[in-house]
Amino acid sequence: MKIVHIATEFAPIAKAGGLGEVVTGLSREQLLLHEDVEVFLPKYDLLDLKKIKRPQLEIADFRCFEKGFSIPNALWKSFYEEIPLQLIEVRHPSGYFHRNKIYGCDDDIARFLYFTKAVFEVLQLRNEKIDVLHLHDWHTAIGAILAKNLFKIPIRAIVLTIHNGAYQGRCATWDLDNIGLDGKSFLTQEKMKDDVYPETINLLKGGILYSDWVATVSPTYRNELLTSQEKDSLGPIYRKKQNHFTGILNGLDLSLWKTGFQDPLNLANIQHVKKKARQELSQKIPIAKENGPIIGAITRIAEQKGPELIEEALKETVRQKGIFVLLGSSATKSLQDHFEKLKKEYEKSQRAFLFLHYDENLAHLLYRAIDFLVLPSRYEPCGLSQMIAMHHATIPIARKTGGHIDTIHDGIDGFLFSEYSQEAMRKEIERAILFFRNEKALYEKMQMKASSIDWSWKKAALQYQEIYSKAFLI
Ligand code: ADP
Repeated sequence: MKIVHIATEFAPIAKAGGLGEVVTGLSREQLLLHEDVEVFLPKYDLLDLKKIKRPQLEIADFRCFEKGFSIPNALWKSFYEEIPLQLIEVRHPSGYFHRNKIYGCDDDIARFLYFTKAVFEVLQLRNEKIDVLHLHDWHTAIGAILAKNLFKIPIRAIVLTIHNGAYQGRCATWDLDNIGLDGKSFLTQEKMKDDVYPETINLLKGGILYSDWVATVSPTYRNELLTSQEKDSLGPIYRKKQNHFTGILNGLDLSLWKTGFQDPLNLANIQHVKKKARQELSQKIPIAKENGPIIGAITRIAEQKGPELIEEALKETVRQKGIFVLLGSSATKSLQDHFEKLKKEYEKSQRAFLFLHYDENLAHLLYRAIDFLVLPSRYEPCGLSQMIAMHHATIPIARKTGGHIDTIHDGIDGFLFSEYSQEAMRKEIERAILFFRNEKALYEKMQMKASSIDWSWKKAALQYQEIYSKAFLI
């Protein structure tokens, strides 16, 4: 099969969160299944080019129209390890991808609409048959509409994966006009009209309705989306699509997460690796003499991730004389400021350490070194962090929602709590710390259970093959 992914992230060279890891893990596994795969990505200025192999200018200049103007672009062919990457260099006067971030610009809608259209210009120039066009989240969802309304490219099936249904890409009709679609004609209930703001286009809704098949990243999250009655959740749209809508639990790209364990069932080896990681961590924070537990959070600080519960977990851990390490940053200024203040407040405690930025190397070290990872999400489509933690024999303390339910078994390989409240968080921290201190042998058994789970992408990639085949028949 010829599979073309269009995505806005690709780990580790352009990663903002889970989506980037999923695109890498899935496409790598599809290559192993002998599929002909490629990933289209914007050539962001922030790309880690050192990690890219054999970059080659494939098309020196191709044009893409926006607002009636012809904008120049180039196409670079390259590889990340063995995965073919097609990088679109956009030479737009607004410097769409010459920013120091992937998301969070005022013109995100325009940037990603433009990028997706530019990919279509390349596909049209090539005029090759494509079996599956695989889109990811609202950012590239417009691909389904472009394929059926503006371009004539031989595509057998369009599949959209929803990594986070809360972000829907609401925009104006003229945003569609700008890329050559007739925006007003899509402002109907059956097409892309938003259910909450009637003058607004909803890109994710359009992607769901115009794709042949929709996937999301865990079976429980699929059910949550299907049964949601909240006004802004697209519940009726998922219900309309339910026979062509599948929940596939993400895997982990294990080559991005090497634990150093020779055998996940060898406790002595696990303990040795964790001890070494803790020594390394003690060069950054004064924990050398601590018996733990060390509880951590490695996360975007956003409402979704339960910031007030993270704060409660920190306070309770300190009260219980454990150590808390937070690695996280927020795109919301008030949240970032709040945690900066908390950092100052706890500076002298020597028990709470806050690193309020994005740091891939520190994340790797923490997953190896800490004892527990806290994940009090309000909702969680899949969540990779708990899988990464468990893979490193670090026990998750997570809220019972979405993908957490599909990946964590309370009391066996982690801790799950139901209620979204500071009180419930506090009790769960207390429970975990008591367990750690009083039931050492059981805690170690839990570690081995967690670290021996097979998170590989194999199963998920085969499930994707299955939905591709079903989509061909539509
Ligand atoms: P989401 O995609 O909703 O942010 P996931 O759990 O699916 O959540 O994926 C988050 C990924 O981002 C994980 O690989 C996690 O380790 C990483 N991550 C989050 N915050 C940071 C940070 N501050 N520094 C480094 N890595 C981070």
